[in-house]
Amino acid sequence: MPAITSGKVLVTGANGYIAVWVVKTLLEQGFSVRGTVRSESKAVHLRKLFKSYGDHFEVVIVEDITKDGAFDEAVKGVDAIEHTASPFHFKAIEPDELIVPAVHGTTSVLKSAQKYGTSVKRVVITSSCAAVLTPSTEPRVFSESDWNEASIQEVKEKGRDAAGPAKYRASKTLAERAAWEFYEQNKGSLSWDLVVLNPPFVFGPAIHDVDIPDNLNESARDWFFNVVRGKLDNDALVNIGSSYVDVRDLALAHSLALQKPEAAGERIIVSAGPWKWQDFVSAAHRFDNRLPAGNKSYDPTKAVHLIQYSPDKERRILGIQFRSLEETTKDTIDDFKARGWL
Ligand code: NAP
Repeated sequence: MPAITSGKVLVTGANGYIAVWVVKTLLEQGFSVRGTVRSESKAVHLRKLFKSYGDHFEVVIVEDITKDGAFDEAVKGVDAIEHTASPFHFKAIEPDELIVPAVHGTTSVLKSAQKYGTSVKRVVITSSCAAVLTPSTEPRVFSESDWNEASIQEVKEKGRDAAGPAKYRASKTLAERAAWEFYEQNKGSLSWDLVVLNPPFVFGPAIHDVDIPDNLNESARDWFFNVVRGKLDNDALVNIGSSYVDVRDLALAHSLALQKPEAAGERIIVSAGPWKWQDFVSAAHRFDNRLPAGNKSYDPTKAVHLIQYSPDKERRILGIQFRSLEETTKDTIDDFKARGWL
């Protein structure tokens, strides 16, 4: 089974919150990295951050990932691909603002890899638990066999009036499905196999180029405003939650997904476990009592988690020792302090 332990890896959307950690982890583990960004200005921070890696790190510009052939040059000479570039926000008006770049960005990289990625042995795609879950009012444990049909249906029925999260979730579901369809139709003639990673909410410190909290990516910005700025009321703090993974553990998952032969052809949920916002608020307050205490009546042992994920496949194939919620919280608070944000 193709898998790699050394060589050059193409990381798409290399300037994103998750991707910069992926690049860092790959470089630390001895891989070379070619990152793609949309414009030269987005390469500046990366070049500075990874300067010490010399010619083991390079950046190329791919202006429009949706165009067929967009990655034709970028895939040449790489041994593997990590495709992370995809819009993640809940503000789209037209669903296609998200769906077109998510789906066409994915198929575009796969087509380029098929045509010109003659040395590519593995492609890893950053999908999401958004492509797995179905919003539920009863507690449910989802696994890799689950697909989020509900958001696709909502977008089909309501179009631009669908909820913001549904538009995003539909984009991730359709993009992941397109990837598997392409792989199934073409695998006989490909030099590479496919791995898909499905993380839930991703939290933890940022090392990408970000100046103010408002410009953090969607998940880290939510964390900042809910945990540091106390944006949620007491009811929301103890009732709203999901599952999470630390961004550094997810980066490790991206590296292991290249290296584990048994990951071939697998969809893998990478989740550290469930939370309610109050769990992060309580942890942050313990580290720094200037931060909001939130809802003091919260009892975490009585929390009902509506969305959880089966850890079985991740444990079997990747076996990551996930950071605790406390560690993620402490390191995120320390990062915000170092930036002068609190
Ligand atoms: P991010 O910081 O916003 O990074 C997104 C990356 O995708 C950036 O490089 C961005 O480039 C690129 N991108 C966005 N829209 C694009 C478009 N239309 N054309 C080309 N490139 C585009 O977000 P992130 O949290 O790191 O997310 C990275 C990946 O992880 C996404 O696939 C997301 O769906 C997935 N994911 C994230 C989470 C989470 O909680 N953060 C959870 C599950 C899955 P620009 O900077 O040029 O816009």
